[in-house]
Amino acid sequence: MKKSIILFLILAMYIFTSCGLQPDNAYEADGFGMGTVISQKIYGVNSKKAADEVFENIKYLEGLMTVNASGGDINRLNENAGKANIELAPETIAVIKSALKISKLSEGAFDITVAPVVKAWGIGTDEERIPSDEELGRLVSLIGYKNIYVEDKIMHRASLKKQGQMIDLGGIAKGYAADKAIKIYKNNGIGSAFINLGGNVFTLGTKPDGTLWSIGIQNPRAGNGKIVGFVKVSNKAVVTSGDYQRYFEKNGKKYHHIMDPRTGRPAESGLMSVTIIAASATEADALSTAAFVLGLDKGMSVIKRYGHAEAIFITADKKIYITQGLKENFQFKDESQEYEYVKKR
Ligand code: AMP
Ligand code: MG
Repeated sequence: MKKSIILFLILAMYIFTSCGLQPDNAYEADGFGMGTVISQKIYGVNSKKAADEVFENIKYLEGLMTVNASGGDINRLNENAGKANIELAPETIAVIKSALKISKLSEGAFDITVAPVVKAWGIGTDEERIPSDEELGRLVSLIGYKNIYVEDKIMHRASLKKQGQMIDLGGIAKGYAADKAIKIYKNNGIGSAFINLGGNVFTLGTKPDGTLWSIGIQNPRAGNGKIVGFVKVSNKAVVTSGDYQRYFEKNGKKYHHIMDPRTGRPAESGLMSVTIIAASATEADALSTAAFVLGLDKGMSVIKRYGHAEAIFITADKKIYITQGLKENFQFKDESQEYEYVKKR
């Protein structure tokens, strides 16, 4: 990640970090992990213990799953592409299997083998650049989730068939960490909590007064904290993929971090963001990335096929579309007055 971004995040944490009991008896803890800021808000007697365990678990998962964590699972798997079958932690296998499920469902719009292309663009790192057509052509030929082999019956093993293949769990690992956080809260007897890992939100239960959690939907073209509306949820993940989350600009053009595996270029599907609301944060995370790649119509079809998720799409022409099941729980509240809420399609 870029040094300037890291510095900003650390500074932001010093300014905004509140660790401890709040007036409403919530325990709040902010930290940094998986390349992003993490906030927790927990109600209950074991809240501090649970928050610490969650941070510890995120560090553990980060070590396993980050591409650059040397000796980590994904690092070893990538280095052995085309060579060997590697033993991996059950958590890593679980994430790869969830990724494959959404790859199949989205016909490859979500594909963790997009890694060579992600690496070439270097978006969010000190090495951002626009790769040549020739280079992208070569790298795109390495993409293909069908070349991932997973074994999880007796042993936890996986391999990548082709030499040069790599996987990147950046589009799904934060969702998995959010699911794990919910398990940790429950194990600590907690019934009411909220976690946000850089746009991957999970709410456990309701707020202590019995009301639903209210999650703001970010205005993709305004600063942090500016919203176009909010959703009211309980026991649900609310996960957003957007072109504003990581990008660089060159000659007036923006290049964002969500790649179309067919072209090896930032997806140009007419969207600025997609938010998925579902019971599994892991699957919601992968689905939001997939839907972003697919665009409004095909993205909506995938959500329907998945069967138990709701979604909010914000198009490049500033229109907001939601799935029917969200009608009662989405409230349009556009402070910028630039967006149009399209109720019927
Ligand atoms: P998200 O913010 O969850 O949409 O994930 C974006 C991240 O996932 C990127 O920063 C890449 O690391 C990775 N990624 C980019 N494009 C794809 C894709 N089409 N399928 C799977 N992962 C991707
Ligand atoms: Mg994602």
